[in-house]
Amino acid sequence: MELRRGIAVSPGIAIGPALVLDTEGVRIPTKTVPPEQVDEEIARFDRAIAAASGDAQSRQKLLADRFGTDIGNIFFGHSVLLSDQVLRYEVETRIRAESFSAEAALVRTIRSFLKRLEDSGAGERALRLKADFIDLEKQLLKHLLGDRGESILAVTDPVIVLAHDLTPSETALLPKAVEAFATESGGPTSHTAILANAMGTPAVVGLGRFLSDVSGGDLIVVDGNNGLIVIDPDEPTLARYRATQVAQQQLEDPLAGMKSLPPVTKDGIRISLLGNIEFPNEAGGCLDRGADGVGLYRTEFLYLNKFDDPSEEEHYEAYKEVLAAMGGRPVVIRTLDLGADKFSSVSGDLLDEKNPFLGLRSIRLCLKHKDLFRTQLRALLRASVAGDVKVMFPMVSTLMELRTAKALWNEVREDLEEAGIPYKSDVPLGTMIEVPSAAILADAFAREVDFFSIGTNDLVQYTLAADRNNENVGYLYDAADPAVLRLIKTVVTAGGRRSIPVNVCGEMSGEPLYAPLLLGLGVRQLSATPRKIPEIKRVVRATTVADATKVAERALEMDTAREVTNLLRDYLRRILPDAAD
Ligand code: PEP
Ligand code: MG
Repeated sequence: MELRRGIAVSPGIAIGPALVLDTEGVRIPTKTVPPEQVDEEIARFDRAIAAASGDAQSRQKLLADRFGTDIGNIFFGHSVLLSDQVLRYEVETRIRAESFSAEAALVRTIRSFLKRLEDSGAGERALRLKADFIDLEKQLLKHLLGDRGESILAVTDPVIVLAHDLTPSETALLPKAVEAFATESGGPTSHTAILANAMGTPAVVGLGRFLSDVSGGDLIVVDGNNGLIVIDPDEPTLARYRATQVAQQQLEDPLAGMKSLPPVTKDGIRISLLGNIEFPNEAGGCLDRGADGVGLYRTEFLYLNKFDDPSEEEHYEAYKEVLAAMGGRPVVIRTLDLGADKFSSVSGDLLDEKNPFLGLRSIRLCLKHKDLFRTQLRALLRASVAGDVKVMFPMVSTLMELRTAKALWNEVREDLEEAGIPYKSDVPLGTMIEVPSAAILADAFAREVDFFSIGTNDLVQYTLAADRNNENVGYLYDAADPAVLRLIKTVVTAGGRRSIPVNVCGEMSGEPLYAPLLLGLGVRQLSATPRKIPEIKRVVRATTVADATKVAERALEMDTAREVTNLLRDYLRRILPDAAD
């Protein structure tokens, strides 16, 4: 049994056989073969070695002809590994001793090589060798599987997906049979994590390297409550998890009673609690949890599983569906935040950028592809008559960007006017504050918008220069960092001066720990993953704004995220002893 600790991003416990994905998302099968087929498996492996060696030699020759032998020799290493008798011997031994299929024996052998390399702690050369082994595994699997490589989409039996990483699109397309997933990379506010929550799939990310220790079919426990996975659990551990799983399924939601209670602090301040959604059908989940409305609809998810840009009609229908479901409650629709890790193929362009989070993302992309943006703005304006719509622009870094976006909005309004198409003329327009430049200039921005929504997921990553998806810099990525808090305070103060509402819609809003801090900083609207709303409401109802303000004042004076976190833990423990940690 082996226990790995990662980051809990979506709660729940799942127990099942592992489905290990290689980087192409192809399932690596663990199959045993009947004893009479063992010789054929070994022969199959030999044929794959011969075919892969042929490939490596042709590549070596091709490159040598074009760029000289030094470059060609890059593939010489592959030929050497392919002719390595230790590899051949270990694979054959596994096939004979354990009746593994050639694929399963290969994967286990390569994983054991990688583990030995890791354990040896050797430097640069070991790293290169590791990359070569991984490449070799791919080459050989390609020949072994031929057309038999199963896509994850074809999976029908319950499985736990284990992968190095999953993109948001891959996550959203996971079939129902996937009961949970765990990845080596990823951070708590990655879009993959956000989606897992929206889908209700237990997930743990940021586990660091562990795939070399598992094979398809191994029994896995994913503990999405505590950010743990257990590989090959022993009987007592398994029994304990099964009991917890059953208890959780039977247990009535202890927070169900929160739905009918208003989010009012103990000193009588009404807070607005809103839901974040990615798909129209999540609107119902917001209402089920007692949300006051939708505070963030991430419309870029309309791009999921599509080759073409969504049409105006598709945008329009999606917005109308959300508005109808919310029955007159406010719905903040965010314009497309494409690029970076989200759907990077747009309008036929594949955005292959070196540094996509600092690249052509979001409003920048919309202002470059104006037709795409206009299509969305037209649909938004047309839908505006169907409910209480507010529109906001993401990732705005400068006032010029905001003004250009607003100018386009006005142009589209005029087009509709001329065409006699109904729209609301007073749709509130807001901007997300998720880039430090916008936070610093919040007073200037406040003069030109109707509301702010602070996107802490990005604000934290851009303020601390720590990629929100990268577990290696996870220690830096901390919403409690005083630098972030000061920026939030600047934005709230600027909003307050112009009397415009300030919402917070990053994952920070869904963390009970931060709720008193945000209230103390002056925030009166929180928008979170619907599942988190009851918990946040409980904290809101347990605090006073007067006490929260004192906590926030102390936090703003602190030097480190750790001090702030300790302060917040103490406070939460004081007001809700069973909610802390
Ligand atoms: C944010 O950055 O906090 C946010 C809400 O936007 P997204 O997570 O979609 O980038
Ligand atoms: Mg963002």
